[in-house]
Amino acid sequence: MPSHVIVECLDCGHKAPFSIVQPACPQCGSMWREARYDYDELATTLAQRLSSRPFDIWRYRELLPVENPRPELSMGEGGTPLIRATNLGMMLGNPNIYVKDERQGPTASFKDRQASVTVATLKEAGVSEFVIASTGNVAISYSAYSARAGIKLWAFLTSLVPAAKMREVAIYGTQVIKITGSYDQAKKVAAEFAQQRHLSIDLGARTVPCIESMKTIAFEIAEQLTNLMGDPVFPPEGQKPRWRAPDWYVQAVSGGMGPIGVLKGFEELYRMGWIDRIPKIAPIQAEGCAPMVHAWKQNRETAVPVQSPRTLIATLATGDPGRTYTYLRQKMLAASGGEFEAVSDDEAFRAMHFLAKMEGLSVEPAAAVAFAGLVKLIRAGIIKPHETVVVNCSGHTVPVERNILGEGWARDLVPSQGMEESNEEGLLAALTKVSLDRFPRILIVDDNPDVRRLIRRILQSQGEYKLYEATNGLEAIEMARRELPNLIILDLMMPEMDGFTVLNELKKSPETAEIPVIVVTAKELTPNEKDRLRGHIQTLMQKGDFMSDEFMDEVRALLG
Ligand SMILES: *Cc1c(COP(=O)(O)O)cnc(C)c1O
Ligand SMILES: [Zn+2]
Repeated sequence: MPSHVIVECLDCGHKAPFSIVQPACPQCGSMWREARYDYDELATTLAQRLSSRPFDIWRYRELLPVENPRPELSMGEGGTPLIRATNLGMMLGNPNIYVKDERQGPTASFKDRQASVTVATLKEAGVSEFVIASTGNVAISYSAYSARAGIKLWAFLTSLVPAAKMREVAIYGTQVIKITGSYDQAKKVAAEFAQQRHLSIDLGARTVPCIESMKTIAFEIAEQLTNLMGDPVFPPEGQKPRWRAPDWYVQAVSGGMGPIGVLKGFEELYRMGWIDRIPKIAPIQAEGCAPMVHAWKQNRETAVPVQSPRTLIATLATGDPGRTYTYLRQKMLAASGGEFEAVSDDEAFRAMHFLAKMEGLSVEPAAAVAFAGLVKLIRAGIIKPHETVVVNCSGHTVPVERNILGEGWARDLVPSQGMEESNEEGLLAALTKVSLDRFPRILIVDDNPDVRRLIRRILQSQGEYKLYEATNGLEAIEMARRELPNLIILDLMMPEMDGFTVLNELKKSPETAEIPVIVVTAKELTPNEKDRLRGHIQTLMQKGDFMSDEFMDEVRALLG
């Protein structure tokens, strides 16, 4: 558990250490909690440290809920450019429009912040399986980071997600479950699945690392804006920096997690005395799915869910924002306010063309929604000509080669009875087909954590297996007896008790004697060693062979 952060319950005020596997408040059970750090200390100590760090998300690690960021999981997330939109500015009569170019993240959307920080907390907590529901980009980004981290990912995607995004998820080897229904239904089914299997799940604004990751957008904007204005970014020792905040932050929203995190980031900078004001926030929704905009304009604290979103922009299809809207509104009203606005699909597509032609930025339709919203708010006089605006250019779609993916990479989950859109019971009933499957169980035995992760990842990305890991011979024997796996993948050379001894022990008791074993070894065996293995194992492989199809062929053959 990271020691520099605590989480405070928003409902009862209880404070507890942060743990990704304990999402609920231990006192009242609420899932709505916020991370807190030692702001007084950081106010005067953090800024100098920044000067020697690379410009990526981990630059602000003291304000993230991760004890030790792991360089091997990183792909350069965060640290995206802040670009002045000169042409757009001239056309709109506002010279101070800046684009935070989140397309330049490792998987081309700002979800890379969410996935990189959350996966780091999962790794730190020893979690190896995770569930998400997504309209596309969350699944893509988590898939990439899970692949690096050796985490098995279950992605529940609404069938409205465009094929290009579906393929991008699949290429990383994620288990894709397509829900014939809305995104809100996909979320419910995913939550049910996670609960049945006792797995952790990404709950958006209720998942602490998600909000924390989004904060870094605010930190970067303030730092970059200060730099672009020619002001000093790093203060003399022991002093606070004077950073600049924009007047507005504009973002296309679906569930609203981004703006909540960004607001929290600006609040923290304000609280440390690094900025002198908190920007106004402009969350923009697609007209066909704009529950938050309607509620805001009617001055309501809760949003009425949109049952059937009518927009082609699937990325933004959260029909029921739930308490996230209430929380965001409350945060906005407590700070500098702002304005919710909706734009039509048509306006978004026009903005998309315009942005490409005038600024050289080709974006996905969801990102274009923010720019269409910007145009609307400037024309309405809500954003004033002299004000500084930062627009989140939230993502782009990466084309994946159509030809390299075979069939059968997704499972379709259609309601058991009928196809009515509201048939949630049907979907939940169909879920038992996924959850009751008995997957083959495989025990991986190797003293080297990198090898275990590699084998785990190969197996995870090729099929559905329940995986166990043992780090030494004794543990291996104990686990084999307890779990009776269908297959053991065994390292031969381990300190203390080597693979030969493990094999002998397994042969001694009838329950474990028949379990097939694939032995892997880092070196060529001597004839004598080969003799000792004869009759005990099914397959002998050298570690370099893992990449070959042969390894998976053997695994499948032995599992029958
Ligand atoms: C997720 C996403 C959004 C919406 O973000 P929220 O803050 O979760 O509402 C906007 N644009 C893109 C490209 C996204 O991937
Ligand atoms: Zn509580």
